[in-house]
Amino acid sequence: MSIPSLEQLHAIGARQQPTYDDPAALAAAVERLRTLPPLVFAGECDELKGKIAAVSRGEAFLLQGGDCAETFAGATADNTRNKLRVLLQMAVVLTYAASVPVVKVGRLAGQYAKPRSSNDETRIVDGQEVTLPAYRGDAVNGYDFTPESRIPDPQRLLEVYHSSASTLNLVRAFTTGGYADLRQVHAWNSEFVRNSPAGTKYEAMAAEIDRALTFMKAIGANPDEFHRVDFYSSHEALLLEYEHAMTRIDSRTEQPYNVSGHFVWIGERTRQLDGAHVEYFRHIRNPIGVKLGPTATADDALGLARALNPENEPGRLTFITRFGAEKIRDGLPSLVEKVTAEGVDVAWICDPMHGNTFPTSNGYKTRRFEDVLGEVQGFFDVHRALGTVPGGILVENTGDDVTEVIGGGEELDEHGLAHRYESVVDPRLNRVQSLEMAFLVAEMLQR
Ligand code: PEP
Ligand code: MN
Repeated sequence: MSIPSLEQLHAIGARQQPTYDDPAALAAAVERLRTLPPLVFAGECDELKGKIAAVSRGEAFLLQGGDCAETFAGATADNTRNKLRVLLQMAVVLTYAASVPVVKVGRLAGQYAKPRSSNDETRIVDGQEVTLPAYRGDAVNGYDFTPESRIPDPQRLLEVYHSSASTLNLVRAFTTGGYADLRQVHAWNSEFVRNSPAGTKYEAMAAEIDRALTFMKAIGANPDEFHRVDFYSSHEALLLEYEHAMTRIDSRTEQPYNVSGHFVWIGERTRQLDGAHVEYFRHIRNPIGVKLGPTATADDALGLARALNPENEPGRLTFITRFGAEKIRDGLPSLVEKVTAEGVDVAWICDPMHGNTFPTSNGYKTRRFEDVLGEVQGFFDVHRALGTVPGGILVENTGDDVTEVIGGGEELDEHGLAHRYESVVDPRLNRVQSLEMAFLVAEMLQR
């Protein structure tokens, strides 16, 4: 199946795309991207697809996490290492509790474009109301609130490629070069449990993991899996120019793959069945996701499954539900029930972040840790009641000690947000909140 041209996709009327004012510069950037080497290999995408198939059968659990939006300035070694470290720490706890492999997927090395609910942003500058085009992620324009910075610049698409390449290179080095050694990761967890007030509640589980590892050591087991981990990249494939330019025919299978990331997903705002994103995604062979929010009907989900996975290939399609803690128990059951009744093969993942966002009176976009946990609990309860598989979680988090989400063991409140709020779009769990979440989800998995 050959993929539609960019012109054909745009003729459908793609949502959430920037308006570039220099078409020649855009075309040149796209042509350049088409000549650059793949960031991931099609064979790796297939391998991940196989693992997601195991997730859908309940034989693995998926952990996907990282920034809401990466930034070019934030693509540093420290930042990447911290993010990777916290995800690996979470994965160890979840693996122990789930007693199945945890499929580790970073929301990184490509997560540079953001859908926005409004095309403009208004701020008060020197007592005057100023309205400028919205920030759409570093892939499109600058975060600085000036007219120049907010102009979409096609050169940024090339910078996405290069930033993603350097992030992925570092991730590959860390995950295969000994940094991710299981005993090291467990030692970091033990340190968290010992030294942070939020961690002491989880001493018992950390001690159990410790005993399991000591036993392995005692019998002389030292498998390769202790020293290296499989780690995959993912992002929302939003900007058609970038994603199309990074789509290549795999020489093994002669099938098109998006080689800018292993797993790509369609966001809540661009999942229209007759939209350009669904049309593009139909043609690539990667494992893919679709976000489903509270307005999604069972027919929407069935239509998406038919369009995106007509052969019902296991591991191909993941539904990432994001209802909000309030709505999940009412909204999710009928969706899961009907999709399951139709025999649709899909992995169900919970995004407990995007249905739980609200603005504070002091002007921050935040989430409550308790709501995030509440949505995950609702997700588990619904799937368990229906006998279906709660396959995993997608979180927005960082390995740094930022203050963006309210609550958690450190009891961060609204006023505390000002201390270190660094996200350019959505609020992320910080390092401690991420680890706490892993232990709390581990408890849900064990129940
Ligand atoms: C996101 O994942 O950052 C996002 C924009 O989510 P959604 O499409 O579910 O709103
Ligand atoms: Mn987000």
